[in-house]
Amino acid sequence: MSPAQNSNPHPPVDVDVDAIVVGAGFAGLYAVYRLREMGLSHRGFEQGSGVGGTWYWNRYPGAGSDSESWVYSYTFSEELEQDWTWSSRFPPQPEILRYLEHVAERFDLARAFTFDTRVTAARYDETRNRWEVETASGEKVTATWLITAVGCLSSAAVPDIPGRDDFAGPWYHTGEWPHQGVDFTGKRVGVIGTGSSGIQAIPVIARQAAHLTVFQRTPNFSVPARNRALAPQEVDELKRNIKEIREFCRWSTIGQPYDFQDRNALDLDPGELRERLEAMWQKGGFEWMFGGFPDMLYDERANDIAAEFVREKIRETVKDPAVAEKLIPKDYPIATKRLPLDNGYFETYNRDNVTLVDLRETPIERIVGAGVRTTEKTHELDMLVFATGFDALTGPLLRLGIRGRGGRKLEDKWAEGPRTYLGVATEGFPNLFMVTGPGSPSVLGNMPTSIEQHVDWICELIAHMRACGAARAEPTTDAEASWGAHVQELAAETLFPQADSWYLGANIPGKPRVFLPYIGGFGTYRKLCNEVAEKGYEGFALG
Ligand code: NAP
Repeated sequence: MSPAQNSNPHPPVDVDVDAIVVGAGFAGLYAVYRLREMGLSHRGFEQGSGVGGTWYWNRYPGAGSDSESWVYSYTFSEELEQDWTWSSRFPPQPEILRYLEHVAERFDLARAFTFDTRVTAARYDETRNRWEVETASGEKVTATWLITAVGCLSSAAVPDIPGRDDFAGPWYHTGEWPHQGVDFTGKRVGVIGTGSSGIQAIPVIARQAAHLTVFQRTPNFSVPARNRALAPQEVDELKRNIKEIREFCRWSTIGQPYDFQDRNALDLDPGELRERLEAMWQKGGFEWMFGGFPDMLYDERANDIAAEFVREKIRETVKDPAVAEKLIPKDYPIATKRLPLDNGYFETYNRDNVTLVDLRETPIERIVGAGVRTTEKTHELDMLVFATGFDALTGPLLRLGIRGRGGRKLEDKWAEGPRTYLGVATEGFPNLFMVTGPGSPSVLGNMPTSIEQHVDWICELIAHMRACGAARAEPTTDAEASWGAHVQELAAETLFPQADSWYLGANIPGKPRVFLPYIGGFGTYRKLCNEVAEKGYEGFALG
């Protein structure tokens, strides 16, 4: 066990600090680093027993990043950037967790956190201008600033399928995977869900299990990751050019070392378009995230071309045409659900030990002791995996029990959907800052790029407050309303609303259908945030 992974041997005892940070993943670690640099006292709370956030919890087989490794990391330390060497283009979960543990150890960050500790309430005391944070263990700490670094996809959603607790075997959710691992050898395993997590896990589980049954509700587009080891010369070159690469990412659309193709798909002749799509397919990676071409997200005709290209690839890959047709998405535009990258996902359905159950043809009736009963039959299983996703963006915040001015609950304020200014703050909750909150680009690209920008911006706002003697920062109602409208307008111009995705909260029964992230691009968002700061934090009431 590495030092960063353990329960803190010397838990901090301060009960009154400048800032409280919730979460010890990419965001929380960096927040603590910055606060310490600024000379602010701080406490951190983390539900897990160690650092890592997403990479602490998501230990399912095949878990790994879809971002290119050399940009899926911090930029705040040149030495760290030069010293750390990634093994492959898309590193697996254990390696990313090792990286975060290394960062925590190298910069002595873990000691700021109390681990195994869930925040159960966070109340703003108006008279004292303090946030009072309470934990499940009964500890109470107060602070001027409350920084949530709880991640966007950290609130696991296990669907309420009738009979779920009747299942005789063990069941798991991909986002809360047992640390000791799960041995599928010789077992009949069921996986429910074919999003990014399912698509990563399915090929690996299929290789180990006696039999794998995949329960698919909505077929997903997926493109090959083309993961590969990084050769030493390539690593050297990347490290030599890392400054330029990072600068490009900071101002790019999705925070990755590539952007859209330079031409609209519809402006290319069919031959050249096909060649470019084929090149993108062979290269693999997130270039596909928004469909690759600028018009893919806006024009159904352009989108159809890319969608049809991928459909053909699925037909070519999956040997049984009936299975292929079930796997092919036909009723939403490509890339309007987060496009997974895969390592042999479609090929997995050519295995003799894999069965695809199309839940649109034969829906689940209930889970029974022996397995999953659909309208057709009972699929007998020894183990069940829920790859059923998360209550994205709002879920992790709403479970903190946040109450703002006048005791107003965040869940009441957000009953019709989240309302934020820049995705970083919300009116009525002074000095509460949300790293990669709803209304910021967050999940629409490379998370560490988003996180560093947000943490830096929040810390600069705090520094500004201290410099000008402001005790409170809170968005104005107008600024928040116009930001919210802007976020929704941008999304409405795209094809995104056509898909029932977690971007819109559509995966959680009863969740308001509101587009959650800001889709105007990382670079544009960064520019807007900088302009707000240059204008003395326009849109914030500083008091
Ligand atoms: P997800 O994309 O929300 O996928 C959940 C899957 O479960 C969907 O196929 C969904 O079907 C299905 N499902 C949900 N409830 C169901 C029910 N009651 N019955 C049957 N099927 C049900 O979740 P995820 O795969 O965990 O991924 C979430 C996000 O996390 C990703 O989009 C990505 O941003 C991130 N992630 C990233 C990586 C990576 O970088 N490599 C890996 C994993 C996750 P419907 O489509 O019909 O709702």
